Amino acid sequence: MIGSELKGPQEWAAFVNHVLETAFGEERFPVSIVDVATMLTPRLFPEDPISIVQGANLDGVDGILVPDPRQKKGWGIFFNSSVPSRRRIRFTLGHEFGHYLLHRHRHPDGFRCGDREISILEKTSRIEEDADTFSANFLMPPADLQRQIAPEEFTNLSMLSFCADRYGVSLQAMIRQWLRITRRRAMLVVSRDGRILWSEASETMRQSGVRLQNSRVVPEQSLAVNPDLTNYPREGIPLPTGSWFNEEETVEMMVASEQYHFTLSLLHLDLGDVVAP
Ligand SMILES: [Zn+2]
Repeated sequence: MIGSELKGPQEWAAFVNHVLETAFGEERFPVSIVDVATMLTPRLFPEDPISIVQGANLDGVDGILVPDPRQKKGWGIFFNSSVPSRRRIRFTLGHEFGHYLLHRHRHPDGFRCGDREISILEKTSRIEEDADTFSANFLMPPADLQRQIAPEEFTNLSMLSFCADRYGVSLQAMIRQWLRITRRRAMLVVSRDGRILWSEASETMRQSGVRLQNSRVVPEQSLAVNPDLTNYPREGIPLPTGSWFNEEETVEMMVASEQYHFTLSLLHLDLGDVVAP
C-alpha cells in the first residue's frame, strides 16, 4: 500500500507536499485542502478515499472525520460552518485530514474534534497533537517557510502576517510554526487581561534554559498591558532586563486578537546576527 512505510505526521506531511510540489511547483499556496483530500486520496487509497468535505451544523465541535454516511466505503470530513474564521476552519480541515492519513485504521468510527487553537489550553492526547503537527506541516511546509524566512533571520509581525496570508492560516498558527524552524531565541506568549494563558518557545530558546520571569503575570512594561502603545515600530520595542526574563533584554511585538480576546506577544532575545551551529 502506498504510504504504508510512513509513520509520523511530519513524514506524511512531507510526502503530500512532495506530491504537490512535483505537480504544481513552489508557488502553489495557499493549499486547497478540499481538492487535495478529495483528489489525492482516491489515487492513493482507492478502497477508502475521502469522498466528501463539507460544512455542517456540528454541535459543540469544530470538525469530524467519519465514515461517509452516504455510501459503504470512503470517509467524510465535516466542519462546523458557524465558525467565523475561514483560516481556523482550514487548520481544522488539515487536522481531520491528518486523522485520516494517520489514524483511521485504528479508529474506524472516526473523530470529533474541538477548536485546535483554543484547546491548546487543555491537555490533549498524542493523537490530537499528531493531527495538529500534520496540519501545521501540510499547510505551512517547513522547507517553504525556510525559503520565506531563513532560520537565522530576525523577523517581525509584518513578515509573519505576510506568511500567514501566503498559507491561509491564522497569525497564531503562523508564529507557532515559525518557532519550530527558527534558530533564534524567541517565544510566543498568549495572554488575556494581563494574565499569561500559555507560552511556547523556540528550540534554541528552550536549550538556553531561559524561563519566564513570572509564569502567570504579564510584566507591567509589556505592550500586552499597554494598549495605548499599539502604534509601536514594526521592529518592536525593547524592554529592560528583568521585565520578561532574568538578565535578558527583550524586544516585544504585540498583536491583539479581538475575536478571541487574546493578546499575542512575540518576544525576541537576540537582535544581532545568530551564528548557525
Ligand atoms: Zn482531532
